[in-house]
Amino acid sequence: MSNAKIYDTVIIGGGPAGYSAALYAVRAGLSTLLIEKLAPGGQLATTTEVENYPGIASIDGWSLAQAMAEQAVAGGAEQLFDEVTELQAQSQIKLIRTAGGEELQARTVIYAAGAEPKLLGLPKEQEWRGRGVSYCATCDGLFYRGRTVAVAGGGNSAAEEALHLSKICEKVYLIHRRDTLRAEMPLQQKLAQTANIEIIYDTAIEALLGEGKLSALQLLDKKSGHSYELPIDGLFVAIGRTPISALLQHQAQLDADGYVLAGEDCRTMTPGLFVAGDVRRKPLRQIVTAAADGAVAATAAAAAVWQ
Ligand code: NAP
Repeated sequence: MSNAKIYDTVIIGGGPAGYSAALYAVRAGLSTLLIEKLAPGGQLATTTEVENYPGIASIDGWSLAQAMAEQAVAGGAEQLFDEVTELQAQSQIKLIRTAGGEELQARTVIYAAGAEPKLLGLPKEQEWRGRGVSYCATCDGLFYRGRTVAVAGGGNSAAEEALHLSKICEKVYLIHRRDTLRAEMPLQQKLAQTANIEIIYDTAIEALLGEGKLSALQLLDKKSGHSYELPIDGLFVAIGRTPISALLQHQAQLDADGYVLAGEDCRTMTPGLFVAGDVRRKPLRQIVTAAADGAVAATAAAAAVWQ
């Protein structure tokens, strides 16, 4: 369905970056449409409890996401729940097509589709997210204070997750599928110096075990062929993230991992196309940094519209 209206800005992605962008865009006087595939929040919506958003001592991710969406909509942003399948941003008026058959036009686009954690791909992994399975130690680590946890992975993220958890948990197993870590040497040295971290090499996680929630891992020692159970209270999967950036090919500069290279001003190489949040290459991916990107991108979009 073709919509004749030309929006000042269309925001793709309804996580903290997208809703923050929508809020700043409407307050700057831009006609604004936000397109979200599922429900408000993105990764935030699946976060059990948020305790590190300034000014809010504790809130569940779903409620914070709803509050962000309500605030943007109350300010005048329109919302569309649909999946964007095509983005043509190189012309002055940008074209956005959706799976639902919408064809939309905009003077600027703020792309805030985020990133998704890679999954181990095991049965129960999705179902037990928030019930023993997590993808973010910064978000969920405190729920495992004094407990025994495992981290899956062997890269920088897994090493950092294990080190973070070692300060909170009694025992941290780092389970890696090979005999050498991919993590940088300084991190490996810190791991070796941390008494309550034990690295289990050459080991595959074969199954998640428990009754209604995770209570143990079924592990396979790949060298000996020995299969055994490891009781744990939580598993943090840190085997990499995948930015959702395929639509930006040839319109924004991507790094080897697919993250968008854009500076703190959130501008891409395409005039009128901005990126915000976890899809952008940045040192810290948190709700607060995503929201900050949204504000910056919307302000830059407003400057482009009003110039
Ligand atoms: P990564 O470097 O790609 O490492 C992923 C790890 O997970 C690897 O050890 C990999 O094993 C393992 N893995 C992948 N798929 C798996 C599977 N299906 N089952 C079991 N294990 C699996 O990812 P990352 O650690 O998230 O880092 C991503 C990028 O961000 C990297 O470039 C990293 O350097 C950077 N980063 C930097 C910092 C820092 O500088 N402080 C912090 C975090 C991230 P193999 O080794 O066998 O492939």
